[in-house]
This record gives sequence, C-alpha cells and structure tokens, in this order.
Amino acid sequence: MEYAIKLSRRNTEEQTGGPFGSVIVEIVTGLVKGVGVNRVVPLSCPLLHGETMAIAMATTNLKNFNLGAEGMPAHSLVTSAQPCAMCCGATAWSGVKRLVTGASGSDVESITGFDEGPIHPNWQRQLRQRGIEVVEGVLRNEACEGLEFYVASGGFVYNGSKRRRRF
Ligand SMILES: [Zn+2]
Repeated sequence: MEYAIKLSRRNTEEQTGGPFGSVIVEIVTGLVKGVGVNRVVPLSCPLLHGETMAIAMATTNLKNFNLGAEGMPAHSLVTSAQPCAMCCGATAWSGVKRLVTGASGSDVESITGFDEGPIHPNWQRQLRQRGIEVVEGVLRNEACEGLEFYVASGGFVYNGSKRRRRF
C-alpha cells in the first residue's frame, strides 16, 4: 500500500494524471507484477485508471488475461483508493484473489470531487461472492493525504457524466 500511495503522489507531482496508484502483487511472495497510475487526461482515454493500468501490465507481462488461471499464483490488487464502478468490474474480471484499498469511495468523492460512478451498494459482498477477499482502509489516512495533496496542487478533476470543475 505504501507503494500504491507513493505512485499516486508521484503522479500528482509529475502532473501525469489523477491521484490514484495501484499495484498487482503475488500474495505469497509479495513480488510486484504490475503497477498503474491514472492516465485518463494525458492519454485521452477514460479507461486508464490506476487499477486497470496495473491489471493490464500484469496480464500482458504474464501473457494471460486471467490472473486467477490454473497454475497461476494468487494475486492481490492493492490500490490507493476504493475502485470506481468500472474498476470494481475490472477487479472481478482480472482474476485477483484479494483487493486491498486505502481511501474509501466517500473519501475520494468528498476530498477530490471525482465521481465513483454507479457502484453496487454492496460491492464488497459482490466481490467476495466471486472469491475475492476485500481488505479496506489500509493506510487510509496516508491515502487521503495523497488525495488532499492533489487538490492542494490544483489537480484537474474530470467527471465523464458531470460538469467539469477545477479546484
Ligand atoms: Zn476506476
């Protein structure tokens, strides 16, 4: 989680995207298999969230679209903030066995104004029913500080379905 938060802060410092960082790690060994930061605005693509970037890097490197495939070690998706509606779905499709989050969805919305989207009210149960352990609030304060840093830095807040605004 420290690494995911560090990625989110670095993305703010470099002005290379939104304040979100994610890491795919092997659960047993802790080996990092993929990293991702939000790249939506710089690359003009709404799909490029930290989570989807990390998943894409891991699956591409491992040459397998399913991180939970037979013979594959179990993986975690560790992300500086709760996944949005899209990334919650991507988490389920990725094959990870564990999701670890820092800031909550309400932290993201209240601190930054980013929209988490139409996420299922019981998304944790939805993921658990698919065999994904959900661990929330790890280093939450530090993760929230990363979001506050973005706002204080004048970071751009976009929302596809809402009016754009800048802090
Ligand atoms: Zn997302």
